[in-house]
Amino acid sequence: MTTGGGPDLEISRAWLVDPAAGREGPGEIVVRDGILTAVTWLSGADADGIGPEGVVVAPGFIDLHTHLREPGNEDAETVASGLAAAAHGGFTTICAMPNTSPALDEPSVYVRIMGAADASGSPVELLAHGAVTVGRAGEQLAAMGELADVGVVGFSDDGSPVRSAPVFRAALAYAGALGLPIVEHAEESSLTKDAEANDGYVATVLGLRGWPVAAELTAVARALAILGDVVLDEPGARLHLTHVSTAVSLDLIRLARERGLPVTCDVTPHHFAMSDDWVAGARRWAWEAVDGTGIARDPWADGALVAPPYSTSVRVNPPLRAAEDAVACLTAVADGVADAIATDHAPHTEVDKAVEFGAAATGISGLETALGVALAAVDADRLPLLRAIEALTVGPARVLGDRTRRAGSVGLVEGAPADLVVFDRTERWTVTTDALLSRGKNTPLLGMDLAGRVLLTMAAGRIAYEAPDA
Ligand SMILES: [Zn+2]
Repeated sequence: MTTGGGPDLEISRAWLVDPAAGREGPGEIVVRDGILTAVTWLSGADADGIGPEGVVVAPGFIDLHTHLREPGNEDAETVASGLAAAAHGGFTTICAMPNTSPALDEPSVYVRIMGAADASGSPVELLAHGAVTVGRAGEQLAAMGELADVGVVGFSDDGSPVRSAPVFRAALAYAGALGLPIVEHAEESSLTKDAEANDGYVATVLGLRGWPVAAELTAVARALAILGDVVLDEPGARLHLTHVSTAVSLDLIRLARERGLPVTCDVTPHHFAMSDDWVAGARRWAWEAVDGTGIARDPWADGALVAPPYSTSVRVNPPLRAAEDAVACLTAVADGVADAIATDHAPHTEVDKAVEFGAAATGISGLETALGVALAAVDADRLPLLRAIEALTVGPARVLGDRTRRAGSVGLVEGAPADLVVFDRTERWTVTTDALLSRGKNTPLLGMDLAGRVLLTMAAGRIAYEAPDA
């Protein structure tokens, strides 16, 4: 099937989704030598029987928030295994977070991981955020100018917030002058010391120490207040709040945007689809865990518990919240307050999770299940398909500005190298340790079926992933 410089491909009678054009419908695509040469929208009798519930072709996804564990913890993930997982999940661009060991706080670490990406042979585009502070210690600004020169797409101390408010203020101004966003993990750490699970009914019943909503809300408020101050001096300042998990934080962000502040945000699939009743052992989607008035139901009274409690696979930072908060996160994706769905892919070794709940490493391996979780919301009529794809493509591209080769043209663009994902919504697949290409097998979805098996991912005109039997 390969000729010349790249692969050839023809897909007829599929459902095309082109969020850049705000369009979806029946169509066909042709790829020649890796170039998307024809995108044909079908109508009338030609379109008969083609619907959005079958084979879908969409632009390749962009993840703003991926943890690769190289350098420092290659047992959990390497650059190569992370890129393979990305392609399996339909992602053609990912942004690595800088909390490696050593941290990506100076150019040599950036050069090292980009070298690993080249050596992997993967066509998936690897971008990276640089650390805000030296060693992510929160005290002294990293060499932000040098990091910008080598090509970082933003700055973040993720894993932690930027601890000091004056340092955060200086970082916003400096990054703004460089044309880059600060990607903030909003957590007031003084309120989360020894915290284990979302502060609420489930944590109380399980005897876990509470992780308050206020820890996120106060950090979001601090960040927005400082942003409002900084933009007066540095109009280029931009703030991106990542993995927002609570309704009140989203309310505050909505208000800030209405007032014109340059703030964007993302939510994760686990925060919009899972709630803290998963810690108790429930495995129902968040929208199934609220009653008709939107109030979280009692998982014990409902008989919703199907797994053992205290599974460390659901220990994550920020924690899985009450179902009302999860539904608010999903609503934010649907109405656009959340610009992007970001995975916060956080692979861990088995040993780092095989401990008691409160001592377990935080995070979920998420690149390969993000699409399936989003489609669960689509199937439940909680999220339009076009909007889900937009939040995986155009939305994150907007946050990145022109820093990806595809930003601004995240669509099915004729004449460009093919950068797309093909998935079949009629096919379900079972999440197993063998099915996941990531070294991180830490997901509470193990054993569950997800819709939308990825058949093919093409990045930069090359095949990044192809299902074995496709
Ligand atoms: Zn984080």
